[in-house]
Formats: sequence, structure tokens, C-alpha cells
Amino acid sequence: MVHGPEMFSWMKILFPLNRSLSGEGNRETLRYLQTLVPEMKIGEFKSGYSAFDWVVPHEWNVKNAFIERIDGSRVAEFSDCNLHLVGYSVPIDKIVSKDELLKHLHYVDEMPNAIPYVTSYYESNWGFCMTKQAFEKLGEGPFRVFIDSSLKGPGEGGVVNFGEVILKGKSSQEILFSTYICHPSMANNELSGPVLSIALIRQLSKIYHHYTYRFLFLPETIGSIAYLSENYEKMKVKTIAGWVLTCIGDKGAFSYIPSRLGNNYADRITKEVLSSIVPDYVTYSWLDRGSDERQYCSPGIDLPVCSVTRSRYGTYPEYHTSLDNLDIISEDSLEESLEFLSHLVKKIESNRVPKSKILCEPQMGKRNLYSNTSTAQSYTAQTKRMIDTLSYLDGTHTLEDISTKCGIDMKQINEILEVLLHHEIIEI
Ligand SMILES: [Zn+2]
Repeated sequence: MVHGPEMFSWMKILFPLNRSLSGEGNRETLRYLQTLVPEMKIGEFKSGYSAFDWVVPHEWNVKNAFIERIDGSRVAEFSDCNLHLVGYSVPIDKIVSKDELLKHLHYVDEMPNAIPYVTSYYESNWGFCMTKQAFEKLGEGPFRVFIDSSLKGPGEGGVVNFGEVILKGKSSQEILFSTYICHPSMANNELSGPVLSIALIRQLSKIYHHYTYRFLFLPETIGSIAYLSENYEKMKVKTIAGWVLTCIGDKGAFSYIPSRLGNNYADRITKEVLSSIVPDYVTYSWLDRGSDERQYCSPGIDLPVCSVTRSRYGTYPEYHTSLDNLDIISEDSLEESLEFLSHLVKKIESNRVPKSKILCEPQMGKRNLYSNTSTAQSYTAQTKRMIDTLSYLDGTHTLEDISTKCGIDMKQINEILEVLLHHEIIEI
């Protein structure tokens, strides 16, 4: 089991990086995650690539940015906090009046000590964000606005990166976990998803699993759209359940956001597991969605994907501001969330329903599964486990039911099933 403090230590390292839809901060993030999970592949979509109705944007990088008063004092320095700069700001070095600057300034009236998170991905623009307290001390100007950023387009090597981890199981049927890597210095609505995904991968890679697991680390919206445009045909055939992981590291109650149709396998398992471990969880409607479940569940794509958060995006005051920082993350909450995800996986792995293809007890001796010479010694514990398991293969008992009824652990049941499948005695 990965513990809360370890996940939190990964968050601390990732927190300062300047993530966005693209750029060096995203690659640094993915490279760091790759040190934790070497199975991770870092992929890319070229700027200008058409994905359904969208075009992959330019790659954005920033060296420095600030607002400078005439006396040389600076405010809203990017090097102090990357949230000071509006995401995807174009380069500029210009003296502007206060009126002109105000058209490009953002702060939150109700939260005087919060820097808001603002982006302008698809409209060429520039801007700065600051606390209301800082805004009130700004002075009258004029001001020098300086942004040393670059935007690399098609043909200039611009790319949007993503991470992908595929943990192959016995079956080609897949479970999907998707999270995003596009918010700069924010903790719950960003880093909680990737670190929990990494912790879950580490756990899964150490245990037997029947299903194949696909973990995605994408910039939100354009990342999942571009990924789906390349993969949705095979994902539609293979995916039996999936979850979007975000806002899952704070102390809030567990919250469930259903899929668009609300009744797929992921929905059912989520409700079952939440009811059994945290019955007071919050249920939202599909209309409260806000992350990549929008893409996975869009008409025609309709993958069986829902979402589980702690405090849902948009419902907690720190959301999309500099106050969504490491202070609102709890190591215990991270660990509880990982336990919840482990339960989901356990449930899905043990929810398979095997059925015998043979009426009456199969003759095991002719398949060399029992000794044909019947002695007291030939009836081993393993033989008993196999016969006990067989006796419940009526197509109504899940592996979990059989495990409980027969007192056999899941690893042993899986081994028995492998043998029975190999001899074509059962179907699942
Ligand atoms: Zn967000």
C-alpha cells in the first residue's frame, strides 16, 4: 500500500511546475511521474492536428513575466507564482496606462488573498492575475508589462504531450482511469488525480489482475478529445468501466458524478463500493459534470465512464485559485481515496461470473486434474478447493461470492479458473 505521506511528497515536487495544455512544465511533470512508474509512455499530438471538431493548439512556454511600476518595483511576477500569468498569454513588452492594464487584469472580489486561475487557450491574448489586496496597492501607472513567452505552431515543433500506462492483464477487456495534467500550481483540482493514479498503478503492478488497465494523464478536454480521436474505436470495444480522477485529495466527502446515461457498469460498481465504505457520499447529476467525462460520455463515444471526487470542482471556495494549494490536501484523505480506488479494482476483478459448461460434475481424472487412483492422500487441499469452486459455477455467483462461501482467497480462485478455462470446463 502506498501511504499518504508518500503521495503528498510527490505533490510537493510537482506543485511548482508550470503546467498548461502544453509546454516544458507538462513534460517535466510527465518525466517525474515516469520516475515513479517507469511503465509510463510519454506521447504527443502535433500542434495543428485535427481531432474531431478541434485542432490541437500551439505549444506554449514561458521564461518570465511581470508588471513593473515606473520606479522599477514589480508586481505579479511569474517566478513567484505561475498563476500570476494568464495561461497561453502571448509575448509582450510594452508601457501601458492603468486603464489599458485593467482590461487584462483579474482578481477575485470576494477572496482578497486569492490569485485566480485564468486561461485564454483559444483566443490570442495576454493578462495577469493577482490578489485583490495586491490590486488595491497597484498605484496609478503607467506600467511596463513584460511577458517572455513563446507559442510554437504546426511546422515549428509544437506538441501537446500526454502520459499513458497500460498494465496488461489476462484479458484484453480494459478498465480506464483518466486524469489531467494541465493546471499550474494547484493541488486538489490537479495533482490529487495524477498522484492517486500513480499510487494505484504501483499497487496494481504488484498483484495478479485479470483485466487490462489503461491509465491516461492528459491535458483536460483537448487531450482526451485528441486521444479519443486516435483510440476510441478500440476503446469502445474493450472498455468495460472507467473513471475520471480529479479533486480527490481534500478532506471533503466522497462525491459521485454519474455517466451521461447513469446506468453503466462503472456507475453500478461506484455506487456499490461507495455505499459499502462511505454510505454518506454525495451524489451529483450528470448536469454537474465538468471534466473529461464530458468527452468519454459524449453521444456516439459513450464509454462506460463516471467520476468520483472528494469536494467536486466548483463547490469549494479555493477552487481555481492559488488557495487550492497543498494546505487543503490531507495525507489521510489521499490514503482513504486510494483505499476507495483499491476497493473499486477489487470489486471489478471479483465481479466476474464463471459458469460450468458441463452438466453434473466434470470428470477431472481424464483431464489429469485428479489422480485416477483414489486414496485418502490424493484428496488434497487443492483438490477440495477446485471441487468447492466448481460446485458454485452456476452462472449466478461472482468470484467474490465464491471466495467468501468457500474461504478461498482471490489469488487461488484465479489460479483455479485459469486451469478450468484451459480445460474448457467453464465460461466467464
Ligand atoms: Zn480545473
